[in-house]
Amino acid sequence: MNFIPYSRQNISKDDINNVIKILKSDYLTSGPETEKFEKLISNYLGVKYAVVVNSATSALHLSCLALGLKKNDYFCTSNNSFVASANCGVLCGAKPVLLDIDLQDFNLCIRTLSEKLKQIKKKPKIVIPVHLAGYPCKMDKLKKLSKIYKFKILEDASHAFGSFFKKNKIGSCKYSDIAVFSFHPVKIFTSGEGGVAVTNDYSLYEKLKILRNHGITKSKKNFIYKAKNFAYYEQLFLGLNYRLSDIHASLGISQLNKINIFYKKRISLKKEYDRQLRDLPFIFPKYNIKNKFSNHLYILMINPKKTQKTRNQLMNYLRKRKIITSIHYMPIHKQPYYRKYKFNNKMFKNCNFFYENAISLPIYPNLSSAKQKYIILAIKKFFKK
Ligand SMILES: *Cc1c(COP(=O)(O)O)cnc(C)c1O
Repeated sequence: MNFIPYSRQNISKDDINNVIKILKSDYLTSGPETEKFEKLISNYLGVKYAVVVNSATSALHLSCLALGLKKNDYFCTSNNSFVASANCGVLCGAKPVLLDIDLQDFNLCIRTLSEKLKQIKKKPKIVIPVHLAGYPCKMDKLKKLSKIYKFKILEDASHAFGSFFKKNKIGSCKYSDIAVFSFHPVKIFTSGEGGVAVTNDYSLYEKLKILRNHGITKSKKNFIYKAKNFAYYEQLFLGLNYRLSDIHASLGISQLNKINIFYKKRISLKKEYDRQLRDLPFIFPKYNIKNKFSNHLYILMINPKKTQKTRNQLMNYLRKRKIITSIHYMPIHKQPYYRKYKFNNKMFKNCNFFYENAISLPIYPNLSSAKQKYIILAIKKFFKK
């Protein structure tokens, strides 16, 4: 038997055929396929504009730039995230304010944020909520705070394609300025590498598009000087090459077609884990069923009050049986790079508890029910022995 990973892409013939078609076409880099991908994404999410780029990390970086984040500004994000959620702001020269999580849903704690906002003199320019596992942050409360303290909201929705906050799709940007999704192979659907920034704000959209392509514009209406010839272009800002290729976009398009199948498979795997594991010494997240979500990850925590056994022992036990689990995440403040900010470890009680006890079990569309049974049985045996 091969290893069972914690997540994995699901590629089929139609995906392969679509990519081959583009390899034979006129465009390899950003072209008609990329534009088509953007239209399909914005239609699906119910948002005005989509700018696809070569990763969610690039999308986060561009979004911070487009929102005007600069040296000596502050920004806030969850301390329990992938490092890119913080790196994007640091890359703009801004200072990170990391927030402890709520142990109900593992997302940034709104109460902690609210207290922080009262305390700190220099208010953050941007707050970056992360919808961990795809489960949405309390966006209505966040939006209220943003009106009082005048910060922008940039959603790191890398896990949350297909998720809702109450009745609104994440990515409709009802509560935010920009939302970002990832198309990395472990995420909800993939373009190989890739990501997107979506917004309802036309001027942000224009900026994102220009920054993605070196800060260059080719459209007449943006020119400072008069066009000299048909090849004329101008560089307006300091940008980057974060373009997505048409090869990647073609994979993304055929994957997006199958999103509802992926979504249903994840929900049924989640329900089976819930049913089978509920009597074991775990602490389950307290997700509100009103928020339908992508189930990108299946996370629970060992309950140290109910068992002597540790999360690390469980991970090792499963690994010996070829089951790969993971931890999402090590708190950002513990990363060697972030030590220089001298964050106070005591401020992150919940993140630290999570990091000690949380485990992400395998969940992905083509995880067979036989394999899931094998995983569940192994976990039950671990607690019996
Ligand atoms: C995967 C991920 C990213 C980065 O996505 P890439 O497309 O790999 O750059 C950023 N934030 C979170 C929360 C992620 O899980």
